[in-house]
Amino acid sequence: MIIEISGLGKSFGSLEVLRGIDLQVERGEVVCVIGPSGSGKSTLLRCVNLLEEPSAGKVVVQGTELTDPDTDLDGARRHIGMVFQQFNLFAHLSVLENLTVAQRKVLGRDKKTAEKTARDNLDRVGLAEKADSMPAQLSGGQQQRVAIARALSMNPKVMLFDEPTSALDPELVGDVLGVMRQLADEGMTMLVVTHEMQFAREVADRVLFMDGGGIVEQGDPADVIGNPKEERTRTFLARVL
Ligand code: ADP
Ligand code: MG
Repeated sequence: MIIEISGLGKSFGSLEVLRGIDLQVERGEVVCVIGPSGSGKSTLLRCVNLLEEPSAGKVVVQGTELTDPDTDLDGARRHIGMVFQQFNLFAHLSVLENLTVAQRKVLGRDKKTAEKTARDNLDRVGLAEKADSMPAQLSGGQQQRVAIARALSMNPKVMLFDEPTSALDPELVGDVLGVMRQLADEGMTMLVVTHEMQFAREVADRVLFMDGGGIVEQGDPADVIGNPKEERTRTFLARVL
């Protein structure tokens, strides 16, 4: 198991956003999380790397309990790559610098090693020729692929994606999903919040449907998306499909 979450709860004041989530993700598994807006999908993802501090429960990644106050969080987070809806690139740095800065600061890699790793990962997402561009010179889809390459440059053991294609023009979505599909094929462990049902159907090993801060239903994509058991899942799918 790479991710082991048990009894995870999160409240903001009196608002209970996650209610006792149990979730385990195996090495190499691709899990897609679907569900209506406000159901707690982003909060769940942010609790996996403790960007959000859980109110209850346990989060273990790669055998390290992140919810243990004695854990070196920065150390544990190095294994976890995250890609957001908004690409969050550093606007004042070139693409190459975006990919090398954390490698150098966090992992202590020398310039040459960091640049080699960066170029390898840009190549992996099909953007080798954009190393010297500035983020603003790229399309949204290209910026998101740079954000993926930046996360990959830290050699993560697991990648978290929070609606990575939701901010993109429709014609740019395919390239980003293509890169994610390729990562899945290479055996990357991935937890992906997405509204792309076709991607979930074709790429996920498992689909989770969340509603009201809990996992309502989960299983094989063909079952959860194609033949849901729960009324709430059916209602949601009827709206998005
Ligand atoms: P989703 O990603 O499924 O749309 P979120 O996890 O973003 O859902 O949000 C779940 C609920 O938690 C929403 O009601 C949202 O308004 C609330 N919420 C999320 N983050 C915060 C925060 N930092 N402070 C207060 N409420 C929050
Ligand atoms: Mg969200």
